[in-house]
Amino acid sequence: LGRRINAAVSDLTRSSNLDEKAFDGMIKEICAALLEADVNVKLVGNLRKSIKQTVNFKELAPGVNKKRLIQKAVFDELVKLVDPHAEPFKPKKGRSNVIMFVGLQGAGKTTTCTKLARHYQSRGFRSCLVCADTFRAGAFDQLKQNATKAKIPYYGSLTQTDPSIVAREGVEQFKKERFEVIIVDTSGRHRQEQDLFDEMVQIQRAVTPDQTIMVLDASIGQQAEAQSKAFKETADFGAIIITKTDGNASGGGAISAVAATHTPIVFIGTGEHMLDLERFSPQPFVSKLLGMGDMQGLVEHVQSLKLDQKDTMKHIAEGIFTVRDLRDQLSNIMKMGPLSKMAGMIPGLSQMMSGMDDEEGGMKLRRMIYICDSMTIKELDSDGKIFVQQPTRMTRIAHGSGTSVREVEDLLTQHRMMAGMAKKMKGNMANMQRAQGAM
Ligand code: GDP
Ligand code: MG
Repeated sequence: LGRRINAAVSDLTRSSNLDEKAFDGMIKEICAALLEADVNVKLVGNLRKSIKQTVNFKELAPGVNKKRLIQKAVFDELVKLVDPHAEPFKPKKGRSNVIMFVGLQGAGKTTTCTKLARHYQSRGFRSCLVCADTFRAGAFDQLKQNATKAKIPYYGSLTQTDPSIVAREGVEQFKKERFEVIIVDTSGRHRQEQDLFDEMVQIQRAVTPDQTIMVLDASIGQQAEAQSKAFKETADFGAIIITKTDGNASGGGAISAVAATHTPIVFIGTGEHMLDLERFSPQPFVSKLLGMGDMQGLVEHVQSLKLDQKDTMKHIAEGIFTVRDLRDQLSNIMKMGPLSKMAGMIPGLSQMMSGMDDEEGGMKLRRMIYICDSMTIKELDSDGKIFVQQPTRMTRIAHGSGTSVREVEDLLTQHRMMAGMAKKMKGNMANMQRAQGAM
């Protein structure tokens, strides 16, 4: 997919007269590539509209790298699509949280159940597994083996054939034993689809889960929309886990499922092993989908096109320093490299980066820029007080950018310091010139 999109954009940049017709043709080609990657037809239609709105061809200044601008627009739109902008379900300590898994046979439910139980176990929740798959011979054995390996207590039955009875018994027993995370694995196949859906509803009634999670194989194609909608209507899941993202699948179907059900992806499976479970993060996911290895380079380049140094200088002259000003400065340093020298020029940053080599420092900077990119326009253009008034914003941003609340706090500390300096420098042109040299 990435190759096709890149080819489409290259054609445009190569053609001698870069007219609007060529631009339209390229958007068409990009959309065809997205369709081929199993992104839903309707979504692609919307995407096309918003790209045309974002990239106003006529207004692009000569010399602006249109190729990168357009790629960035595609990237941004896809990120917007998969970014849930919502906090994932968090089990509560000291009570029983029941999580039920649904999904088709082979999606990766049984494997992922154990991964998730282990995930919570390692975070201090007493976790356990209930096997409510009585349809497939060997299902209980598989769960037992996984659970034993991960040292997770489990419940199941070799004789009881009614899955909702097994589920209820298992959950009741574990609740009595005060387990905190009880994960119920279910079957994914039946002779009739309706039987599977009936069974899901019965199990759901039997255990009244706090959260139902649908497991989806990354390789699911155009049927993603219909399938996830059917599951949503029956089992009303509140979260999605995408498995097998380590494979060749582009994951376009996953995006369609999110858009069709308005349900966030919470984790992704990245391999067959117990530890191969990662929190979902929109940017890397879309980078992979588009085959854009150097997405960050792209983001920075585009930023440099838009970057208005004068804005920051004007701000400083007025004693203002917004979070966006900080973001622009970070992005400037990234372009200037070698980092160890550059970072030293920004007060406070050198301290933060001491002991890091250029690569680690670059990673740190990139993460800071990710954080800024997960902020709303209002937050970026603010003086930072908004985060003190509403600290939950930091949690949302940490989640959206795939970083930690601690890192968001660090960035805001950095910002506060620079804002303080800007205030002191207010109106002092001499200092301003010196600052310009330094930033
Ligand atoms: P279920 O039928 O939904 O319970 O699916 P299973 O948990 O039995 O998984 C089906 C197959 O997918 C197994 O061979 C798993 O090892 C494999 N699998 C599950 N998750 C992942 C993943 O994230 N990556 C890879 N490579 N394989 C996975
Ligand atoms: Mg299974």
